[in-house]
Amino acid sequence: MSLYLGIDIGGSSFKYGWGNSEGLRHFDSIPIKHKTMEHFMQQASTLLSIVDDRVSLQHIKAIGIGSPGTIDSISGRTCGVNPNLPFWINYRPSDIIPSFVKTPVFCDNDANLMALAEANHHGCRHLLGITVGSGIGGGLVLGGELYHGSNGYAGEFGHQCVERDGLKCNCGRNGCLEAYSSVDGLRRSLAKHDSKYLSMELSELLNVNDSIVIEAIMKAHSLLVTSIVNIVTVLDLECIVLGGGAMDAGLYQVSEIEQDVNTHLPEANKGKVRVLKAYHGNQAGVMGAILLAEKGIS
Ligand SMILES: [Zn+2]
Repeated sequence: MSLYLGIDIGGSSFKYGWGNSEGLRHFDSIPIKHKTMEHFMQQASTLLSIVDDRVSLQHIKAIGIGSPGTIDSISGRTCGVNPNLPFWINYRPSDIIPSFVKTPVFCDNDANLMALAEANHHGCRHLLGITVGSGIGGGLVLGGELYHGSNGYAGEFGHQCVERDGLKCNCGRNGCLEAYSSVDGLRRSLAKHDSKYLSMELSELLNVNDSIVIEAIMKAHSLLVTSIVNIVTVLDLECIVLGGGAMDAGLYQVSEIEQDVNTHLPEANKGKVRVLKAYHGNQAGVMGAILLAEKGIS
């Protein structure tokens, strides 16, 4: 049995695990306490020592790494703005692996890997994966393969413009979907009415019986649905998968999104698009990284 190691770089931990396309055999995480390259490399060495003790690195055929942020397809380096890991720009994700490790390493954006893992699980060839949390990520699988676009920037679902000159987004532009429909975006759009909303947890916001909050969530839902409808119309997708902390907390209901999406789709697409909750949860990035590694050497 071939084993592959998947590492998912996050803002507060490295999630990792080993397995293959048939499933994850082990899943764990180690914390990120300092947001520096030196600490990243220390934690990656610790992680590899654990893997070596448990299954021996010699038995790992390839390593997949999922990274937040955009990865330029020419340079292989992270680029743009990375709000959760501001220092993590202009690095190759594989830079965290010590040079003495000779195992092949493959890297991709974490939301892309979520989409790959979900496409594999649901048996979809044309899928958009969306993660809703403090931001909004997206990844596209077209024809069974990850779609990167001409520079590697494809799939940035949260940064499509839904309101020109609208609210400021984490990416520096104005009017992105993320600025309205992510948890941070929702808080900031509510803060236009009252700054008290900025410090409220999502669970508190979902439990207040407050017309301002209810209207903001309805607008956020509506913009999310419109964005999905537009992408399905352009790409004739088969499946939309929604995951991330805000979906788990109940900010949006998958069944309502599916109903609204189908209401607004062109006649030809109606009833042909499945909208599903992500299956892999917080293990999606690791599972996708394992699949990336397995595809990489096959
Ligand atoms: Zn943006």
